[in-house]
Amino acid sequence: MKHRTAKLHTQLVHMNVGPAFKVKQPFPVAGLEQVSPFILLHHAGPQWHAPGALQARLSPHPHRGFEPVTFLFSGQLHHKDSTGAQGFLRSGDVQWMTAGSGIIHSEGPSADFARNGGSMELVQLWVNLPRAHKMTTPKYQDLRAQSMPFIERSGFRVQLVAGSLEGVNGPAQTFSPIIAAMVHFDAVGAIELAVPEGWNALAYVLKGSVRTGTATVGTNGLAEYRADGDGVALEALEEGYLLLLAGEPIEEPVVSYGPFVMNYPGEIKQAILDYENGRMGVLES
Ligand code: MN
Repeated sequence: MKHRTAKLHTQLVHMNVGPAFKVKQPFPVAGLEQVSPFILLHHAGPQWHAPGALQARLSPHPHRGFEPVTFLFSGQLHHKDSTGAQGFLRSGDVQWMTAGSGIIHSEGPSADFARNGGSMELVQLWVNLPRAHKMTTPKYQDLRAQSMPFIERSGFRVQLVAGSLEGVNGPAQTFSPIIAAMVHFDAVGAIELAVPEGWNALAYVLKGSVRTGTATVGTNGLAEYRADGDGVALEALEEGYLLLLAGEPIEEPVVSYGPFVMNYPGEIKQAILDYENGRMGVLES
């Protein structure tokens, strides 16, 4: 296996999503605009919430043309959407939503979590859809922590959400070839993992620190792997966890506007019209 080298990115955009939620955005940032098929990564928390303190939800909002994926590292979320579906995510669960032709959803802490308080930490990743599937029927996959298999060795626990490593398969169904894994590591250890040549690949460290492809990546650092090998090597320096992402690039134009990700500007205008005319459904707040 030839290990890829990596470029370290430490720039974070800080922003508010809705009135109550602060997020860090390691990409896109200046110098790292496109990592197809991945469009955007938001990291919220870890933040401790006192009992009764966190009541807010993200009010109903639309999406079209991509997949918003929520990795819940701690806490409890409740979501509902314009297809009439709703559900809960618990610590370690993942929601892989396909916005497709359009969905309106709201999300926030569950009533239990709001009442009892606790620590909340999540990543929301936007995964692009190939043009042929942008208008697919909306759906979501709620993936339970215990349904996602893992590789465990040398101080590493690599839990597969999507795609395949060493014959271990993540349960998420995707529209383009992707590997997504939640990786926990002890203070000492090392692992190498095969990532297909030609795929884009990233490792975002939520906590702790690793050396990978000559880069040392600490908390909130992002390693962007170069296309110079067929695997990635991770060496733990400080106990923690990271998100490993790899995917075959989608070689199509991208036009992103607010909650819509399409190929051409006219399709954004159409998305806005369809939303305003109720063609993505309706969700009471
Ligand atoms: Mn959303």
